[in-house]
Amino acid sequence: MSEYLVLARKYRPQTFDDLIGQDVLVRTLRNACKHDRLHHAFMLFGVRGVGKTTTARIIAKSLNCVGQSVDDRIRMQPCVVCHNCRAIAEGRHIDVLEMDAASHTGVDDIRQLIENARYRPVAGRYKIYILDEVHMLSKNAFNGLLKTLEEPPEHVKFIFATTEIRKVPTTILSRCQRFDLRRISINLLIKLFEKVCHNEKIEAEFDALKLLARVADGSARDALSLLDQAIALNANLITLDDTRQMLGLIDRIRIYEMYQAIMAGKILDALNILSKLYENGADPVIIIQDLMEVTHIVTCIKIAPEAAVNNNLSEAEREQSIALAKVMRMSSLTMAWQMLAKGISEVQASSLPIAAVEMIIIRIAYSAELPEPLDLMRMMHDKKILPTDVTYETTKTQTHLPTYASSIPIETIDMPSNASSNIAVDDSRNDFDNLNYETSQCSKNVISDSSVADVHPDKKSLAYNPNKILDPMPVDFAGVVKLAFQRGETILGTTLVTNVHPVLVKPGRLKLRPQGSIDHHHVFKLLTQYLQCWTGKKWVIEISNEKGSPTMMEQNEAQLAAIQSEFAAYPLIAKVLKLFPGAEIDNMTDFITEILVERGAL
Ligand SMILES: [Zn+2]
Repeated sequence: MSEYLVLARKYRPQTFDDLIGQDVLVRTLRNACKHDRLHHAFMLFGVRGVGKTTTARIIAKSLNCVGQSVDDRIRMQPCVVCHNCRAIAEGRHIDVLEMDAASHTGVDDIRQLIENARYRPVAGRYKIYILDEVHMLSKNAFNGLLKTLEEPPEHVKFIFATTEIRKVPTTILSRCQRFDLRRISINLLIKLFEKVCHNEKIEAEFDALKLLARVADGSARDALSLLDQAIALNANLITLDDTRQMLGLIDRIRIYEMYQAIMAGKILDALNILSKLYENGADPVIIIQDLMEVTHIVTCIKIAPEAAVNNNLSEAEREQSIALAKVMRMSSLTMAWQMLAKGISEVQASSLPIAAVEMIIIRIAYSAELPEPLDLMRMMHDKKILPTDVTYETTKTQTHLPTYASSIPIETIDMPSNASSNIAVDDSRNDFDNLNYETSQCSKNVISDSSVADVHPDKKSLAYNPNKILDPMPVDFAGVVKLAFQRGETILGTTLVTNVHPVLVKPGRLKLRPQGSIDHHHVFKLLTQYLQCWTGKKWVIEISNEKGSPTMMEQNEAQLAAIQSEFAAYPLIAKVLKLFPGAEIDNMTDFITEILVERGAL
């Protein structure tokens, strides 16, 4: 019986056709070869285990193979069976020198190499130098290499491989043809698994292979090593459960449940799940990594819902992720990510890793419950938090109070008693669709009325219709303006805000002074008709020369200035900044708008 060969070696790609997931590299190389533009130096860049050395050997074989047809030569297709191919595959070819730059960093090693490069190849066409982890070379070693790279002997080819391309000097990089090796996708790894399982006559559950592929993180070598382990565990059938156990992985659904509990502030529930996971042998570090992964997935789905399809998630995971993305705030997600990322090193360094995980979970659960800075400011403004109350505990409990925004009464204008006695206010007034429908009906009436009625439109009485949805009588000019905006007459509303001074305002009667170049006859005529239509009561508007109050615009500006100075003097702002380290007050427009709305100014 022959010695067992590990899968990673047995299935090591021997030709470019076997190499999976590196289509761009293969195409570029073949094109270069076809047009006789093959460089004398290649730089292969990619993460660990992605296939750099394998690729280097395939290139070496393609260059030195003596069993190729002309066509194969152009396609860089080694025959695999000639003595050169076999020797290179086994790493014992006399003209192909593999060197680990990590252990040969000095200038002397390079000097020796350069010296050797002067002699012609013995068995192959080229002398090929494969330098792995080339970024580890010393500065002097790089300088020594540079001269040869600038004017290389015709029979010499260099193949460099590195995991850290930025550490390679630009002088070297600029003299190489660079190839970026990509992480192999999960789907391609699964296909590789299926091929290997078929060849090895092994049955495997698809979900088990998917899990192995995910853990391999884009490395074919790691993927095949994992498959080896899974086969060793159970040679007949690779199941999802066995694979999970083998990897020390925890039930993903439990992780999602824990995540939901944390984000809902249900600390006890979260800790209970954690302790069960720990009892079942879950690694504390992996728990944190899994929570990070969930955070990442949910964040991606929140930004782009199609991420749910692209991710290699199980059906249950996908559903849970989408549900979480719907309810979670982006700020909570990013904060959770930061805390987990920071926490992972705490867990690794801790002598009580599981206790460290518990503390991280508690921290995140509390922060998820904290209001956002803007909400906090609103609450403070609303005097829901008094200066002395700004402590961690208070803030937490305060979050359960109704928010500032929802506490603003929908109707800020009180209906005068005489109006309420004879105007029936339909209960369906808040129904958005009805309101819009009625508004458009009303607008049509007014427009057709005004086009027909020419001289005294205000004397034309609009019949009171008890079925029509009516607004309460505004008691001040702000109420009149608000009504115009609510009814969708924004141009009229804006004109009233910027160009009209209220002199006298009573329900049913307005004395106004127009300002600037507006057609005030037309504006006031329209306003009269609209008010009658909206309130069901007769309105009289009088044009006045008296000074009256400032325009709404002027009033708003004054209020804004007052709020801004009030805000700047707020001692609590400093406390907010203290509570959220690194936070800055960027903009308070929304806040001011809300205050103005609340005060009836808008
Ligand atoms: Zn060959």
